[in-house]
Amino acid sequence: MWIKNLRESFSFRVFRSFSISIMILSAIFALFFVYYQKSRVKENLVKEGKALSALLAYGSKTAVFAENRTLLRDAARAVLKQKNVLAVQVLTADRRVLFDEEKRSFSGNTEEFTSMVSGVELPVVSESADAIEIVSPVTLMLHAAPPELLYFEDTPPVRKESVIGFVRVVMDKKALGSETATILVRSAMIAAIFLFMGAIIIFFAIRRVTLPLTRLTDAVKSLGMGESVGKVPVETHDEVGRLAEAFNAMSENLREREKEKKSLEEKLRLARTMEAIGTLARGIAHDFNNILSTVEGSVYMLERKLYDNSPLRDYTRRVNMSVTKAKGLIQSLLTFSRTQTTILHPTEINTLIRKMKPLLANILGEDVRLELSLSESEMVIKADPVQIEQVIMNLCVNARDAMPGGGRLSMESASVIIEDKEAADRQKGGRRKYVRVMISDSGRGMDEETRERMFEPFFTTKDSGRGNGLGLSIVYGIIEQHGGRIDVRSRSGEGTEFRIYLPLVEEKIVEST
Ligand code: ADP
Repeated sequence: MWIKNLRESFSFRVFRSFSISIMILSAIFALFFVYYQKSRVKENLVKEGKALSALLAYGSKTAVFAENRTLLRDAARAVLKQKNVLAVQVLTADRRVLFDEEKRSFSGNTEEFTSMVSGVELPVVSESADAIEIVSPVTLMLHAAPPELLYFEDTPPVRKESVIGFVRVVMDKKALGSETATILVRSAMIAAIFLFMGAIIIFFAIRRVTLPLTRLTDAVKSLGMGESVGKVPVETHDEVGRLAEAFNAMSENLREREKEKKSLEEKLRLARTMEAIGTLARGIAHDFNNILSTVEGSVYMLERKLYDNSPLRDYTRRVNMSVTKAKGLIQSLLTFSRTQTTILHPTEINTLIRKMKPLLANILGEDVRLELSLSESEMVIKADPVQIEQVIMNLCVNARDAMPGGGRLSMESASVIIEDKEAADRQKGGRRKYVRVMISDSGRGMDEETRERMFEPFFTTKDSGRGNGLGLSIVYGIIEQHGGRIDVRSRSGEGTEFRIYLPLVEEKIVEST
C-alpha cells in the first residue's frame, strides 16, 4: 500500500523523471566521451607509428642504400622494442626483405602493402582487425645533373629525391582496446557520480517543495475534520509560500466565523428563552394580578373585622407581605414582557443619569460610595427613558447586593467609535459612534459559571426571596431592543464592570425627560 502511495506521490514522480533525465544525459555524455577518447587514442597510435617508421626510414638510409643487414638490425630492433609495436620490416625498393621481425604473429601480408607503395607521398597507413600498419619510404637525395655541370652553370642543380626502400611498422590495436576499456570504466564512474550527486540535489530540492505541501495537506485534513489548526509556517515567498499564507488567512477566517457562530447561537438561545418567557408572562400576569387583588381585598376586609390586638393580625400581615412580593414579581414579569414593544425618543443619557443620582444613592445605601464621571458633551440616544432607567437601576441593585460590607460604585460615560463587523462585511462603512456607559463595582465579582449564565431568565445565586433572576435578563432585553450591546468583565473577588453601548444619534432633544 505504502509503495503504491509512494509511486503516486508528486515527489516520487518528480524525482523519477529527474533521475531518468540525468541518467540519459550522463549516458549520452559517457558515450560521447568514450567515442572522442577512442579516436584520440587511435590517432596517437597512428602518430606514434608514423614517427617510429619515419625515424627508422631516416636512420636506415645508408644501410638500405648499401643493403647492409647488420647495419640495419640494431635500429630496427630498437623500434620493435617500443611498447605498441608488433612487427618491423625493412625492404629495398625492389621488394627485397632486409629486416623482418615480429613480437607475435599477426594477420598481414607484406606483398600486399608494398605493392600499394608507389611514389613518395608516403607514409601509407592501413588498418586490419588487430593492427595498424604504417609504411614509410626510405629516400635519398640525388643530383639530377652530372657533377661537371655544377662548375659551369649559374643555375642551382636540380636535386631529386628517390625511394630506395621501405620501412613497415605494425602497431598493435590491442592497446587501443585496453585503453578504451579504461576510458569506458572512467566515464561510467563519472556518470555514476553525476547521477548520485544529481539525485541528492534533486532529493533536497523536492523536499523543499513537498515538505511545506505535506504540512499544508495535514493542516487541511485536520481542518476538514473540525480540529483546531494552528498557523502553518510560511518559509518562502514563492507559490508554496503564498499558498501557506492563503491557508493561514482562510483558517483564521474560519476560526473567527466559528466564534461568531457560537456567540450568535448563544444569543439566539437567550432570545428564544426570553421570547417564551415574555409570552408566558404576558399571558398570566394580568390574571395573576387579578387573583392577587382579590386576595389583597379579602385580607383587608378580614383585618377590618379583627381587634387591634388580635393574634390573627400576625397571619394577615404575612399574607400581605407575600402578596406584595408576588406583585413585585408580576411587575418584573410585566416589565420583562414589555421589552418586546418599545417606543424610542431622543434622550440625553448624561441628563438621565444625573437625574437618577438621588434615587441611586438611596438604593445603594450609606456604605456604598457612588462616583459619577459623566461626559460634558451632549450624548443623545434613541431610547425609552423608563427602560434605560430600569437598566441602570437593576445594575445598581446587583452591585449593591455584591457589596454587603460596602464599597464603591462608579459610573462613567463616553462616546466611542466601534467597528461594526456585520456592517463591515456588508461594506457599509462599518464604523459607528456609540455611547458607552461603564458601571463598575468593587464587589465580590462572578465566577465563570455565573458569568456564562447571568443573562438567563430566572438564573440567580441569591437566596430565595432576595433575587428572582430576572434583573439582568431584563437589562439584556432592553439593550438589545435599543440596538446596543452589553459586555461584562468580572472575576471572583475582583469586582464587576458592565459596559453598555448604545448607538449615538444626531437628533436634537425636543423635550426634556
Ligand atoms: P438576581 O439579581 O435576581 O439574582 P439577575 O439576573 O439580576 O438576578 O442577576 C443574576 C446573577 O448575576 C446574580 O444572582 C448574581 O450572581 C450575578 N450578578 C449580577 N450582577 C452582579 C454584580 N454586580 N456582582 C456580582 N454578581 C452579580
